[in-house]
Order: sequence, then structure tokens, then C-alpha cells
Amino acid sequence: MGMELGKYKTCVSARSTDKEILKKAQDGGIVTSLFVYALENGIIDGAIVSGQGDRPWKARPYIATTKEELLAARGTKYNISPQISWLKEATRSYGFDKLGIVGVCCQMQALRKAQLYPVGMRDVPDKVALAIGIFCMENFPYKSIQQLVEDHAGQKMQAVKKMEIGKGKFWVTTERGNTIALPLKITHKYEQPGCHVCLDYVSNLGDISTGSVGSPDGWSTVFVRTKKGEETWNKAVGAGLFETKPIEQVKPGLELVTKLANEKITKNKKHIEERATFGVNKGLRNPYI
Ligand code: SF4
Repeated sequence: MGMELGKYKTCVSARSTDKEILKKAQDGGIVTSLFVYALENGIIDGAIVSGQGDRPWKARPYIATTKEELLAARGTKYNISPQISWLKEATRSYGFDKLGIVGVCCQMQALRKAQLYPVGMRDVPDKVALAIGIFCMENFPYKSIQQLVEDHAGQKMQAVKKMEIGKGKFWVTTERGNTIALPLKITHKYEQPGCHVCLDYVSNLGDISTGSVGSPDGWSTVFVRTKKGEETWNKAVGAGLFETKPIEQVKPGLELVTKLANEKITKNKKHIEERATFGVNKGLRNPYI
């Protein structure tokens, strides 16, 4: 296997055993359950999560310090949520020594960079106790997701119950039970341009990373990557928080995750080459090699 899935210690298919969490979870309720467990067991003091902003489905990062606040952040919003902007605030103003954070792949990269080269981030490096990365193929500015839902799917943002990308389509489910599926060729042009040069699909730098791809409906694929991640994961599984199955025993399994990761990397490497050819974004290439 190549490096498209990053380094990991174990990979399983899992879902939360907490019915309340599962009710509004995107898939297996992994992030919410893990943070609730970590909070209740003193592994973290609080977590930077992404919840409801000032418009329907607009993502807004905030610091959750209770189970209720964690529950309020359930579900994927498919628009940009500047998680990293809260890092300093969390360690300084809130004074957290053990911080949890969830984010997509590029945010895990930013987090690790802040830890390795803490310029202007002096108090941050050793205070991150659990970083959970989400699989991410692309993301959208809020206006774009609004246009997709309102213009293409013909629904009001406030009527939406769930948004989901899967099986080659962008799915919008409304509170009244309607489901609209948009082909991804429509959604592509709404993506934020930065995503077209992104080479990470499964959050290689999270302590744990998770996403729906590879697992059956209602379950999530979970990569346990670091020692920190492994300690928390094993404790949480031991405490009965998750049902798990070996990833080899579920369909579609890692084969699909690998395929999609490779597709993303290949497509985006081409974009990087194209941009370099046009003389823009040369900075993406390391000038020393
Ligand atoms: S595709 Fe990459 S750059 Fe875009 S939001 Fe996802 S992780 Fe970030």
C-alpha cells in the first residue's frame, strides 16, 4: 500500500453506542462520542468544534466544554469553518492545558505546523491533547453551498436536515423527508479553489482520522494514527463507547478509500503542475529541491 492513507496503527469500522449522539450524527458519531468521552474522563478540558453560525448551516468554530455543546456541533456542514483561528484563544483566554480539536486535513496540517514552528503560537504546541481529522475531498465557501442547495436543489437552507457527499453525488435531505441528489460535476465549480491543490484525503496528520468512506451506511472508518490517539481510542472502546469491526470485514473497505485518495491526489497534482506552468503559485514548490 502506498502513502495515500498516511501512517496508522490500526484501522476499523466503528459506530457510537450512544443513541442520542447517533440521532444527528453524520455517520457513526465518532468525533462527538470521542470528545464526550475525553471530556468526561479528563483527557481534554474542551474542544474546538464546528457548530451552527449566524445563518442556516453556516459553520462556526467554537469551544465546547460540555456534552451539550459537543452535541450541538454534530453533522457535516460542507462550508469553511476556521478552526485554527481558535487555537490561541483556547490555550490563552480559556487557559486549556488539554485541548481537543477537530478539523479537515488542511487544518490538521496547519495545527502540526503551528506545533512544529510555533511562531506566534508560543503556548500552543504541548497543549493539544487530541486532534481528530476528517476525510475531505473538497469544501465550499458558504455562498457556494447556499447556491447549490437553493438554486440547484431548489430547497431553502433552513429546510435542510442533512447534507452528504457519497456514492458519486451530493445529497440534500430536507426536514420533510425529500432527498435531492446532485451530480458532482455540478458541485465541482463551486469548490474553494485551494482544495484543488490539496494532496491529503484522510487527514494523515490527525491523532485519529475518520470519515464515512469505506464503511457501511451509519458506520465510519477510523484510522488510529498516533500514540495519543491510540491511548484515547483504546480506552473509549474498552469503556463500550463504540461497536467496532475489522475494516477487512466490511464493504467497501479500504479499497475504496485508497481509490478515492489516489483520485484526489492524482487530480490535484495535475492542478499543481498546471499552476506552476502558468507561473502562478510557484510557492507551492519547494525552492530548495
Ligand atoms: S480539500 Fe483539502 S484544502 Fe480543501 S478543505 Fe479539504 S482538506 Fe482543506
